[in-house]
Amino acid sequence: MQIEVQLTSSPIAEKICPLRPGGTAGAWVEFRGIVRGEEDGRPISALEYEAYPEMAEREIRRLLMEISAKHPCIAAKVVHRVGVIPVGETAVYVGVASPHRGEAFALLAEFMDRLKQDVPIWKRGARSAEHRLGTNQNIAGNMPSRCSALQSLDEATAEIRARCQPLPGVRVPLTEALGRVLRETVCAPEDLPPFDRSTRDGYAILADDPAETFSVVDTLHAADWKPRQLKPGEAVRVATGSALPGSGLRVVMQENVERTGDRIRIARRETAANISFRGEDVRAGAPLLPAGVKLNAGALALLATMGNVNPLVSPHLRVVHYTTGDELVPPDQTPKPGQIRESNSILIRSLLQDFLCDVEQGHLPENFELAKSAIENRRSKIENADLLLISGGASVGEKDFTRPLLEWLGFEIVFSQINLRPGRPLIFGVKGARVAFGLPGNPLSHFVCFHFAVATALAQLSGGTAPIFLRGQLAEKLDDQPCPRETLWPAKLEWEPGGSVRLHPLAWANSGNVASLAAANALVRVPANQGSLEKFTGVDFLPLTAMLGM
Ligand code: AMP
Ligand code: MG
Repeated sequence: MQIEVQLTSSPIAEKICPLRPGGTAGAWVEFRGIVRGEEDGRPISALEYEAYPEMAEREIRRLLMEISAKHPCIAAKVVHRVGVIPVGETAVYVGVASPHRGEAFALLAEFMDRLKQDVPIWKRGARSAEHRLGTNQNIAGNMPSRCSALQSLDEATAEIRARCQPLPGVRVPLTEALGRVLRETVCAPEDLPPFDRSTRDGYAILADDPAETFSVVDTLHAADWKPRQLKPGEAVRVATGSALPGSGLRVVMQENVERTGDRIRIARRETAANISFRGEDVRAGAPLLPAGVKLNAGALALLATMGNVNPLVSPHLRVVHYTTGDELVPPDQTPKPGQIRESNSILIRSLLQDFLCDVEQGHLPENFELAKSAIENRRSKIENADLLLISGGASVGEKDFTRPLLEWLGFEIVFSQINLRPGRPLIFGVKGARVAFGLPGNPLSHFVCFHFAVATALAQLSGGTAPIFLRGQLAEKLDDQPCPRETLWPAKLEWEPGGSVRLHPLAWANSGNVASLAAANALVRVPANQGSLEKFTGVDFLPLTAMLGM
């Protein structure tokens, strides 16, 4: 089948030349979608369409090929306009050639239905009738700013990394530093241990003293500091941790010694010196902890040993999270028919715990104007937040206002869709150092988008390490249909006794499913158009942060 596809921000011509695929065509059927003067019962002056042209073209071609298997046609031409399209002008033109009109009509009808659903071209909004278009708004320069290809997972992550910069560090006492990201490399200010110490309770003697019996000339306890030069035949009683009286010594364990009054006899010779030498653990000036590590209990103990009691660390991040959706009721209420319990608040609050955030949560009414006034009341909170998260309303339904809301708050939208399943309508915006995400409302999409996108932003803002994919093996077959989008598939990770990682794919049918959430501790990356993956296939997976304590 001959296919021609064009995305344009210019008006579509009144007359389009039919494709001429040779002598077998008996019909050339044309369809034009024209922008109507009203939307939702309100008069409008224009509609704005946004698209990812490369992806959209690919999808249109794929759709046409797929449908023509059922309704054989010879050629098809599709022209879709994007940007602001005034009322009365053509938004989409489709021409189909087939042997008889029946096939062409059938293909056209199915194509138009699926175009809306499957192709990344969406209505960004309507211009009200009061908002008349200026003459130059109807021209090619009016393409939306981001109109290139739909972001891949890697592109989206790279964009987040590039746009989120570490917030200034703060100095806090060690008791408040657990889980924070260290923001400066810490070097040892002195040798560790700072002096030669005995590792045993026993007797210090000259290392090369061949005598069997010794006189005990002194006793040292752990806190004593009594330098002296030992002579052959002399021994000093030492405790574990005692600073040795000099150099060139070794310690004989008391278990290997017989003592009578002030004399000892070595009953059994040892080869070990039983000394922890000065600087053996750490040399003065050596780097101990690099900037960017998350401080765990051991790291704090090390800092304490070094006397570094006010490390420079990441600040607590201020996060504001709003849910949207009139169908939601609090989880302690019984939903009426059509309602569901709200679960994203506790999901997000719990996921944020790993990043030491001060979280403020709320709910927005599902009406743009009411949502704006609800926000207005807490505007300073939002303006001070390092991260703003809005659950739901991220796609292109009539009530989906997350994107305009973020724009109204002054965020530059970096991307608003990614080529991912689940989680395609993910919005990412920035405003100076502040970051915002519009997360698709379904809990599974939330979960996935949090772990690769929000976690990357939080790691960046903290100055830490962003989540990375690791390599593992499927413990079972991953049963899937080929999907044009890359997938992050919830999985349960288990360690094999030999130390390798096995991933059990969890069942989910769509992004509204929540059953898999409780068991998921990894996301397996399934390439676009892959379909099923056999047992034992090597896969990339994202370990979920809480699991590794990263
Ligand atoms: P939306 O992204 O707003 O179109 O929402 C997509 C789906 O996710 C809808 O079925 C919503 O009911 C559901 N949803 C949205 N927000 C929440 C939430 N906070 N808790 C549970 N489900 C939600
Ligand atoms: Mg919603």
